[in-house]
Amino acid sequence: MSDTLDFTITLDEQPLPAAERERVLADPGWGQNFTDHMITIRYSADEGWHDARLEPYGPIPMDPASQVLHYSQELFEGLKAYRQPDGSIVTFRPFSNAARMNRSARRMAMPEIPEQLFVDAIETLVRVDKDWVPTKEGYSLYLRPFMFATTRALGVNQPANEFLFMVIASPSGNYYARGIKPVSVWLSRDFTRAAPGGTGEAKTGGNYAASFAGQAQAVANGCDQVVWLDAIEHSLVEEVGSMNLFFVYGSGPDARLLTPALTGTLLPGITRDSMLKLAPDLGVPVEEGPITIEEWQAGCESGEITEVFGCGTAAVISPVGHVKGSDREWKVGDGGSGELSMRLREELIGIQYGTRPDPYGWVHKIA
Ligand SMILES: *Cc1c(COP(=O)(O)O)cnc(C)c1O
Repeated sequence: MSDTLDFTITLDEQPLPAAERERVLADPGWGQNFTDHMITIRYSADEGWHDARLEPYGPIPMDPASQVLHYSQELFEGLKAYRQPDGSIVTFRPFSNAARMNRSARRMAMPEIPEQLFVDAIETLVRVDKDWVPTKEGYSLYLRPFMFATTRALGVNQPANEFLFMVIASPSGNYYARGIKPVSVWLSRDFTRAAPGGTGEAKTGGNYAASFAGQAQAVANGCDQVVWLDAIEHSLVEEVGSMNLFFVYGSGPDARLLTPALTGTLLPGITRDSMLKLAPDLGVPVEEGPITIEEWQAGCESGEITEVFGCGTAAVISPVGHVKGSDREWKVGDGGSGELSMRLREELIGIQYGTRPDPYGWVHKIA
C-alpha cells in the first residue's frame, strides 16, 4: 500500500460568508465552531485505506448497527495550526500525533494509518480552510483527527473490518484570554480513569466517558478539574483532567522538575514530551518518577514543592493553585502562577507561533 492517497476535493458551494467567519474568529470559544470542510478516508479489510475526500462539513450517514455506537471502538488526536508572523501556517509535531494515533490503534484493535497520509489529510484541510486560522495573538485552529468502527454488526467475536478516519477543525481562542488563572483540583478517590492493562495510554473516547462522573464530582466540590490517582492504592498521582502533570521543586537556578512516569495508565502527551526536552535545555533538570498525594501535600507544606502545572495542547500550561480532597486541602506555592511554569509556557508558545527559534524541528510548515 502506498503511503498516501489522492484526495477528491468537493468544495462547499456556500461557505460561511467572510464577514460571518470574521465574527466567529473574533470570539471562537473552544470546540463550538467548525470550518467549512472536513476530511473523510475509508478503510476496509479488503481495500485498506481508500476513498480519501475533502468535503463540505456536515452530518455523516450512519447505520444504527455501526460498531462504534455499541462498543466504542474509537480513537482521536488533537493538535493545532498556528499563524506565523509572516502570515504562513504551521502545525506542531504532527508526525508525533500520527505515531500516537497508531499506538492507540494497536491497543484498540484498529487499523494503523500511514503517518504521511495522516499528515496529508491535515494539510489538505488546513490549506483549503486557511482563512479559518486566526491571526489574533494566542488564537489557533484546533485540529481533531479521529477514527471509528463503521462495521455493521453487533457481534463482538468478529473483528471490525470497516473504519472511517476523519479530520475536522475548530478555531479556538486564547485559553487564558482574561489572564492566566491557576486551577483548583479535586482528588478523586471514588473514580479511576485508567487501570493497569486498560486503555489509559490510548487516546480513546471511552477514557473520557469514564471520566465525566469524576469531573462532575470535582465541580460539585468547587474545583475546576479532577486529579486522577492510580487505580489500586488511590495514592500515586497520574494526571489532572486531560493534562499531564509537572511538579517544580526548589526555585531559581536550583529548580528541578518531576513528572509521573508513563506507567501504561497515563496518556503520553506531546506537550509533556516537549517539556522533557525544553526544560533541560533551559538548565532545568527533569526526572520521571512516582509521586504520592502525601508527598505532594508534604512537599507543598514544607515549601520544597514551589509550583505545579498541568500541560496539554489545548491550554499549553495550566498552573495548579489549590488541591482539595474529602479529607485534606492545601495550597501550591502562593496559589498563583509560578515563575518557571510561565517561563516554560512562553518558550513553547514562542516556538509554536514562530517568535522564537525552533532548534528541535518541531514546527511543520503547511501553507
Ligand atoms: C490528549 C491528552 C493529554 C495531553 O496530550 P497532548 O499531546 O500534550 O495534547 C493528556 N492527558 C490526556 C488524558 C489526554 O487525552
